[in-house]
Amino acid sequence: MAQNRFPLRINVGFLLNAPISTSREISFDLPSIKLGEDLDLKNLIGKVNLTRTPKGILVEADFSSSMFVECVRCLEEYDQKLHTVFSELYAFHENSVTESGLIVPEDANIDLLTVLREYFLIEVPIKLICKEDCKGLCSECGENLNYNTCEHQVH
Ligand SMILES: [Zn+2]
Ligand SMILES: [Zn+2]
Repeated sequence: MAQNRFPLRINVGFLLNAPISTSREISFDLPSIKLGEDLDLKNLIGKVNLTRTPKGILVEADFSSSMFVECVRCLEEYDQKLHTVFSELYAFHENSVTESGLIVPEDANIDLLTVLREYFLIEVPIKLICKEDCKGLCSECGENLNYNTCEHQVH
C-alpha cells in the first residue's frame, strides 16, 4: 500500500471563511510514523480540534504514541510511551503570529509533523528505563537481574 507522504497534514481551507468559533475534530490513527531520524513512532493516536478564531486557526491536539528504545539499565528493548497535549494558533496574517511563528500557508495545508515532533521530544525521558524498579545488569557478570540472580548479589 502506498504510504501517505504527509500523514499529519490537514487542509483547513473549509474553515477559512467559516463563522468565528466554527470547529471540527479530526482523528489520527497511524500504525507507524517517523518524525525525523531520531523519532520513530508506533501507534500514533491523536485527536485534533480545529477552531476558527478571528486571528487564525486554533489547533488543540492530544497525541499518544510509543517508541521502541533500549533501557539504559538492563539494555533490553521496550516500548516507551509518549503523550502530549498542546494548543497552537496558526495565524492568518503575520501581525498576529504567536511566539511559535506558525501561520496558515497559502494552500491552507497545515502540517503538524514538525510541531508534533517538538512536543514529543520534550516528553522523551532523559533516562530511558523500561520500568521504575528495573534492577539492571550485574556489574560483575552482566546478568540481567530482572530475570535472574547471580553469585555477586548479596542479600
Ligand atoms: Zn530495564
Ligand atoms: Zn553477577
